Amino acid sequence: MEDIRIWHLDEADVAPAVAKLHKINARAVAHGLAGGYSYRLGDVTRQPVYLDDPIDPTGIVGDRKPDYFKVTQEFIVEGEPPKLNGWSFLATLTWDAGTLVTRTASGFTGTIEPGTIKAEYCDHCKTERQRNDTYLVESGDGTRRQVGSTCVKDFMGHQFSPRWMTGSDLDDMERSFGGRVTEVASPETVLAWAASLTSTTGWVSRDKAEIERRDPSSSILRDLIFGTSPRAREARRALQPTDAHKAEAATVLGWARNLDATGSEYLANVQRLGQVEDVSPRNVGIIGSAVAAHHREAARAQERAAAPVSRYVGAVKDKIELDVTIKSDTAIDGDYGVSHLYRMVSTEGNVLTWFSSRNLNLESGQQLRIRGTVKGHELYHDVEQTKLTRCKVLEPQAEASAPSVPVPEREAC
Ligand SMILES: [Zn+2]
Repeated sequence: MEDIRIWHLDEADVAPAVAKLHKINARAVAHGLAGGYSYRLGDVTRQPVYLDDPIDPTGIVGDRKPDYFKVTQEFIVEGEPPKLNGWSFLATLTWDAGTLVTRTASGFTGTIEPGTIKAEYCDHCKTERQRNDTYLVESGDGTRRQVGSTCVKDFMGHQFSPRWMTGSDLDDMERSFGGRVTEVASPETVLAWAASLTSTTGWVSRDKAEIERRDPSSSILRDLIFGTSPRAREARRALQPTDAHKAEAATVLGWARNLDATGSEYLANVQRLGQVEDVSPRNVGIIGSAVAAHHREAARAQERAAAPVSRYVGAVKDKIELDVTIKSDTAIDGDYGVSHLYRMVSTEGNVLTWFSSRNLNLESGQQLRIRGTVKGHELYHDVEQTKLTRCKVLEPQAEASAPSVPVPEREAC
């Protein structure tokens, strides 16, 4: 993507800026990257500066002579950030105390096999050294590379910064304190605070927070646990976890450790963090969000349990009559024309199927009473189904919620 920047540089900064651009271009050439920058000089502006003027330090006051001029050089940079073509960013890989945590690009739906990546290694420059983060990139043909923070710029361009890295200056500062401050909390503690926070405000994801312009729950949780500000202390008093919250934390932790993370990078992260002794501030939000994830999972399980189990109906050759709701109509093109497979569920929750050689224009959700003969029983995807034949649609059931509406006469327009 073409990048154009217009800078107004102090004269003294012009030469270093030029040198820096030359260096970027030279590096691009040396690494075989596409892109590079050119620059041109624009106007020189002399702006008068008046000292000791409390009202307007730059305004012209009477016939005073300016104390000095601020001379700036307009400096225009054009070009494209150097990078290898065709690579896209997949995830940031972080190892905190040996635990892998992946932060995937939004829209990423695949999985990252922990066995395919190597802590602190860069595939590009083939070096292994102390790295907090490495980055996973993928080419158009599906080749993946794990690269360090300098090399990732060759792949993604020098403007590279994933969404959650913007404003990461504070993260960098935290890291620069290096080892002197070690803040960790146990997963039990994090989850107890998360249970308290979630029961009060629900869990607000980063994406949702961004749209609604509010603080994401992960930041609030981190502040609750590690914050030292008066506001954090106040929040700690208000949200002190109760015994119920602690019990919920234990339940969620048990769930997190034993869940099936197949196909979900998020759940894989939750599971890994559920097994560590210490959770760092950076990972508090991921394990903390497990409270809400467990809520959703429990609600789904309850829904499944509440749904009636389908049982076989009647015996073969029995003639039966029952009320059903149409679930689906599948048209099947065969040797004798198009037939229709109707899938239905009875009021008791039993699933029935009927192959009709005629199209009865039955729609999903439609309720009716049918009479038919049991042709057989079969187990399909673990669901007991009764096959019917020679069905007859009797009076459709009265639909209490949809009174018949007279069709209005068509008006001329
Ligand atoms: Zn490298």
